[in-house]
Amino acid sequence: MLSLRLEYEYMKDEIDSAIRRCLEHQHWIFGPEVGQLEDTISSYLGVKHCIGVSSGTEALVLSLRALSIKTKGKEYFDRSDGIITTPLTFTATADAILRAGATPVFIDIDPDTYNIDPVKIREYLNSHDGGSASGNVVGIIPVHLYGRPCDMDEIMGIAQTYNLFVVEDAAQAFGGMWDNKKLGSLGTCGAFSFFPSKNLGGFGDGGMVSTNDDEIADIIRMLLKHGGTDKYNAKHIGYNARIDTLQAAVVLAKFKYIDTLNEKRRAIAQLYNAALYDLSCLTLSAAKLSAENGDYHVYNQYTIMVKDGKRDQLQAYLKKNNISSMVYYPRPLHRMEVFKNFAAEAFSIPIHAEDACDSVLSLPIEPLQRQEDTLYIAEQARKFDTYISTINP
Ligand SMILES: *Cc1c(COP(=O)(O)O)cnc(C)c1O
Repeated sequence: MLSLRLEYEYMKDEIDSAIRRCLEHQHWIFGPEVGQLEDTISSYLGVKHCIGVSSGTEALVLSLRALSIKTKGKEYFDRSDGIITTPLTFTATADAILRAGATPVFIDIDPDTYNIDPVKIREYLNSHDGGSASGNVVGIIPVHLYGRPCDMDEIMGIAQTYNLFVVEDAAQAFGGMWDNKKLGSLGTCGAFSFFPSKNLGGFGDGGMVSTNDDEIADIIRMLLKHGGTDKYNAKHIGYNARIDTLQAAVVLAKFKYIDTLNEKRRAIAQLYNAALYDLSCLTLSAAKLSAENGDYHVYNQYTIMVKDGKRDQLQAYLKKNNISSMVYYPRPLHRMEVFKNFAAEAFSIPIHAEDACDSVLSLPIEPLQRQEDTLYIAEQARKFDTYISTINP
């Protein structure tokens, strides 16, 4: 769907020389670029620690494992520990909860933002309260879906009330902001992915954890290299979950352009919004440029909702006109086999998440795509809209 080659050509010289430097120094594991990337991103986010890891998924798992070790003094959470998250996300978000020993608790989304609904989180915690704080809930993983910030005032307020940790899944939201603060700097930890299709993507897998907590940072640094500061005398159940020097070098070279490219994504979104707002078959609410509270949407995806079960038809129509679009995500996590078996019983059916899975469609938003391509895509969507309303007035 997106042409990563455009981005490579745009910054070819920097990337080529970054790779060449690695070929010269040959420090493939924990080479100098790993520390440089960590320092660069921690000052960009405004956090004390950033720790390079092997993927966004591992960033989530390591954050949760470190929280269990710190708060419970145990290697893993217990299955009776619940962690609240959204059912409208990539599998990895909730799979990380299972891998850390806890149980996902799925709470519905707000259909106006596609993000987890803080009102529903409160309802859940109140109903399970019975005077004993939050029942078994220990934390929340809000996902800044498609690059749009969750309402972090609400979520951090809830976390404070119920004494919960917050791990921000910022895999799709590098550079995004809430209240003029960078996403990933507001929760207890932030988890980022450098998967090639993310806003700051490498040439393979990579990720990062951000945190202001010294103890969590120390634990994660142990866990990612076999569980100890001394690998011949490990302290915890560890992983091999480092970021490669080579990936760190590529991401560091691309980092210089992230703000520029995020601005370009926002400009494309604005163009789509202006061209699509009056189409009767679409809802754009969640695709709106949200800028009221110092929040900054970075559009990893430009996602619309197609009404009346017409999503697949629109997708087929676009495909016939050489436009590839994607469905993120076709199935809510509570309907996925692994989570049917291991997630907490739904508090109430996450009906808005289910509707979203049947109606969302993400249109191409490669930051370097030409204006005429964006307008062509919007024009084809308009033709579909006209055609649909003539046969079905
Ligand atoms: C991509 C993604 C992840 C996982 O990141 P990887 O680097 O692919 O492991 C986790 N959560 C969300 C919301 C993502 O989009």
